[in-house]
Amino acid sequence: AERPYIVGNWKMNGTRAMLSEARAIDRAAQRYMKVEVAVAPPYTLIHAVHKEAEQIGVGAQDCHPGAEGAHTGDINSSMVADAGAKFVILGHSERRQGHGESNELINAKIESAIESGLRIILCCGEPLDTRDAGKAEEYVLAQIKAALTVVEDPAERLTIAYEPIWAIGTGRTATGEDIAAMHGAIRRLLDETYGEEESAKVRILYGGSVKPDNAREILATPDVGGALVGGASLSAESFLGIVVGAS
Ligand code: 13P
Repeated sequence: AERPYIVGNWKMNGTRAMLSEARAIDRAAQRYMKVEVAVAPPYTLIHAVHKEAEQIGVGAQDCHPGAEGAHTGDINSSMVADAGAKFVILGHSERRQGHGESNELINAKIESAIESGLRIILCCGEPLDTRDAGKAEEYVLAQIKAALTVVEDPAERLTIAYEPIWAIGTGRTATGEDIAAMHGAIRRLLDETYGEEESAKVRILYGGSVKPDNAREILATPDVGGALVGGASLSAESFLGIVVGAS
């Protein structure tokens, strides 16, 4: 199996004062080499965190799909790569819902990220009413299927993050059974699309209220290859508590 992958998504948090947390995470991660650790700071800190990082990976939380040009306020994949990002989170529910991102737009972003040499963490996840209606699996698999049409070498490029929207920032996590069922369904889709050997190299992360005290149990769930962590990634102490849970 691949190394567990623990990724901190800082979202719209972090000024230069956070660089000391990044440094602490990086130094401590050197003691947990069996775990792959990464953070996705806001654009403004990517280069500074990259300069601090000896061990951890650094990524972006989004990118514009286009070439450089007249797009005021936007930042594209080649610019984040130039700043030191090695991956980009795409399709997060806060982008799909808060910025109206469609699967088509996300695919354009995936293509541009691949062209810029970045790896992709593709987020998927259902709203609560969809889960209550018994349609969570169908909904999530449709999101992923749409993206897989533009990913040819998933082993090199792709990580998937299943983040049920109702578990993000709410303190509520999915049950172990729900997580195992969804991750299993995603694995079967990857097996069918790419073959089992290639599929086995794609990690499926869980995200949504992962904390030091629930990390070990979540990470021991079948087909869970790591965690995408929001709130608990903002302090070195709690983020490292999750890294320890993965080791
Ligand atoms: P929380 O860990 O704050 O619930 O956020 C999860 C998330 O959305 C990570 O991308």
